[in-house]
Amino acid sequence: MLLESYKKEIFRPECNPSFQSLHCIAHLDQDITEALPYLNASLGGFEYLKDPPAVTFRVHGKIITVHPREIAVNALRDEEEAEKILEWLKREINEAWEKRGEIKPKYEGLPKPKLLEILKLLPKTNCLECGQPTCMVFAALAAQGVKDEEDCPALNEEKKGLLKTYLSRFEFDV
Ligand code: SF4
Repeated sequence: MLLESYKKEIFRPECNPSFQSLHCIAHLDQDITEALPYLNASLGGFEYLKDPPAVTFRVHGKIITVHPREIAVNALRDEEEAEKILEWLKREINEAWEKRGEIKPKYEGLPKPKLLEILKLLPKTNCLECGQPTCMVFAALAAQGVKDEEDCPALNEEKKGLLKTYLSRFEFDV
């Protein structure tokens, strides 16, 4: 077993101590650097950084980042939820490591939409109808999967179809 134990630290975000969600950092007692590309391949990391290595996942509205000696999870309801997620990750890390002979390691995250490609398809009139201050802001939100073609009322049918086709090439979990 590669990852045997960790120490859990739970805290409220400093920026807003009254905010009803918790953050958790698990300090790992073993170094899992070598397992990260296998974990990325088996779970489909959203982002993969090579140096220092880290893989980020988006799972049910949470962002989970796995580093060689640390796992960070945000937007947690309570300590019980943190424990469940950490135990699940521990199993996944150990399984990916045990099966590394069958898994092709992956050193990059999922492809992401390009903000400028989205912006090209928008009317660029900054008309405010979508509730955003500019088309650029809308494009940035669409690139994260928060907005899509249905959220810009100023799009004509042709551009709406093109934006839909473009965004459908990417996976979002928001
Ligand atoms: S509704 Fe469309 S055109 Fe208007 S600001 Fe929003 S994205 Fe731009």
